[in-house]
Amino acid sequence: MRHRIAVIGAGPAGLTFARVLHRHGHPVTVLERDPAPDARPPGGTLDLHENLGQLALGKAGLLAEFQALARPEGQAMRILDTDGTVLRDWRPGPDDLANPEIDRGQLRDLLLGPLDVRWGRAVTEVVPGTRDGVLVRSADGRQETFDLVVGADGAWSRVRPAVSSATPHYTGVTFVETSLDDVDTRHPALARLIGDGALAVYGVNRALVAQRNSGGHVKVYAQFRAPLDWHTGLDLADAEAVRSRLLALFDGWTAPVLDLLRHGTAFAHRPLHVLPVSHTWAHVPGVTLLGDAAHLMPPLGVGANLAMLEGAELAESVAAAPGPRDLDEAVRAFEEQMWARAGSWAKMTAAGLERLVSPDPAQALALFDEVQPS
Ligand SMILES: Cc1cc2nc3c(=O)[nH]c(=O)nc-3n(C[C@H](O)[C@H](O)[C@H](O)COP(=O)(O)OP(=O)(O)OC[C@H]3O[C@@H](n4cnc5c(N)ncnc54)[C@H](O)[C@@H]3O)c2cc1C
Repeated sequence: MRHRIAVIGAGPAGLTFARVLHRHGHPVTVLERDPAPDARPPGGTLDLHENLGQLALGKAGLLAEFQALARPEGQAMRILDTDGTVLRDWRPGPDDLANPEIDRGQLRDLLLGPLDVRWGRAVTEVVPGTRDGVLVRSADGRQETFDLVVGADGAWSRVRPAVSSATPHYTGVTFVETSLDDVDTRHPALARLIGDGALAVYGVNRALVAQRNSGGHVKVYAQFRAPLDWHTGLDLADAEAVRSRLLALFDGWTAPVLDLLRHGTAFAHRPLHVLPVSHTWAHVPGVTLLGDAAHLMPPLGVGANLAMLEGAELAESVAAAPGPRDLDEAVRAFEEQMWARAGSWAKMTAAGLERLVSPDPAQALALFDEVQPS
């Protein structure tokens, strides 16, 4: 029996779900708000863990293609003190494939492959329990019904209200993101400082992190504790005004590190929000959530990994469910498994964020040593 399945959102969660279902020969409707795959910049690099994101790619039959694109050298991590002293300089071994990096755009294209995504379809509401199944309403006025609707529509999910009243709350930490292009040619000193992977500098309640993407592109994150309205009176669209505010915030840090902000092109404001650590809901037949829609957590390198593994696991269970009752049982079992695993990561990443952007910068170094013993 072919269930009518829709997934809302073509991010890592939704695309992995759809791609694994496609591999099992099961049709799936993918509704995505963006008008086209490259309608907006795809965001920074992702490290895919062997036992999470890479496992999901294996289930999609895409591991070899991932390995051809991935950057194992991108796992390198250098940590500096705010005066420029090198505190750690970790590099992966030649065969270390535990957490290689990949550009988000490359990952999206890899997952998209033969999938037929309906671009420009912003879902506004999902109504379970209608006579013909679960109703999906879109901003363009269209309505369709399905046997199962999977909300993979990220932090501000429009599917989530169909199962849960939880909403994300601010963590007290804000990221302001900027980037550098052609770093090896245009900013060779910064390229050497960053190395092959990431550079992190931890100060009191502040951090600066720079991460290499492919093609000499670098993403820089100024991270700091601040109230949500820290930018009152500042025009966030005025790059020079944001740059001066950030340089004042990081005043006294060594000049080569501040060059990351001086040479940044545009600035994007990203206050970090999270869902409650153990976000669960009373099961609603015909609707479930995956990835950030289910368990938005601080960005400590695991959100996309979990999103992809959940997508792959749910797709396998759905493909193996012959009838409507089996489908509902499969979704229930999936939710229990997702809640348990995501809950423990949410707890760890919440504690991790407290230590990475902390009044005591030694906490960040200690956390690195726990995760990456030399
Ligand atoms: C700075 C930063 C760095 C990070 N680094 C890492 C990392 O190294 N490793 C890692 O594992 N994770 C990382 N993460 C976390 C990771 O980005 C997220 O956990 C991951 O993208 C979640 O995937 P998702 O598919 O659930 O949601 P999303 O990636 O948010 O995708 C949701 C999709 O749904 C679409 N959508 C939204 N609303 C609607 C709607 N109403 N109708 C239709 N479509 C809709 C969106 O356009 C989007 O395409 C990082 C996050 C940040 C902010």
